Amino acid sequence: MGVQSKLMHYDHTRKLFQIASERGLSLGEINAASLLRRFRIRPTKQRLALAALLFAKGNRHITAEELWSEAKVTKAPVSYATIYNVLNLFSSAGLIRSLTVEGHPTIYDTNMTPHHHLFFEDKVTIVDLPSSAIGVNR
Ligand SMILES: [Zn+2]
Repeated sequence: MGVQSKLMHYDHTRKLFQIASERGLSLGEINAASLLRRFRIRPTKQRLALAALLFAKGNRHITAEELWSEAKVTKAPVSYATIYNVLNLFSSAGLIRSLTVEGHPTIYDTNMTPHHHLFFEDKVTIVDLPSSAIGVNR
């Protein structure tokens, strides 16, 4: 990174911190705001909080129930219905995708790059496989 781009990065970060503190939002919520705008989702307070929570831990697979229990312990807990609606909104906007596994609640995936899934039924866990990992033998 050159000196110029380092300075620009520093300015950008400082500006984000400033906006965050002015609006009483966390940095995660500010990042979430630009993410939501990119997907043309109106950034309401609840959507921002849930997006920040959802994307705080990198790529992952999560059910509405699991996100709900994470949201319960935050400063602004939301209802299960809100979680459910927001996850559906995010997935229809293309921000996350929903995975349907028969006999299990819908699982939401924050990884939008092309990949396959390995589903372990006994532990109800999903593991990502890069799309290059599976070939078709003819
Ligand atoms: Zn996945």
